[in-house]
Amino acid sequence: MRHLTLALLLPLIFSSCATRLTEAEKEKLATAANESRKTGVCNIHHVRMNRELVPVEYVHLSLEYYSSAYSEARLREFPNSREYALSLQQSDEGKKVHIFVCPYCKRAEREWIQRHPNDEWGKTLGPKSQ
Ligand SMILES: [Zn+2]
Repeated sequence: MRHLTLALLLPLIFSSCATRLTEAEKEKLATAANESRKTGVCNIHHVRMNRELVPVEYVHLSLEYYSSAYSEARLREFPNSREYALSLQQSDEGKKVHIFVCPYCKRAEREWIQRHPNDEWGKTLGPKSQ
């Protein structure tokens, strides 16, 4: 009986490692990331981030983005990796703004993209230069 129970539980334990974020968890992580962009302290790595002058890029993110593996990995592992700012206003394209960039997030994103080389969102929104 004990073996049967363990056999039933193991798949649950392993599958929980790859659990998708709930909407509430996404919201919480997104709020923490937004707050970190004001304080300059990364909400994941808890280090002071570098303030950088970066270009603004106009982007239209479809709804699929928000449920993508890249989007979830970004919230969990590298929310402050971008060396450019996203804008929904096309007229902002080409402007420059100061943002906080976390060196540990940058490394975490590069590592994630190496593990997911065919991820379209990673290719589109990931680091522009290596
Ligand atoms: Zn970080």
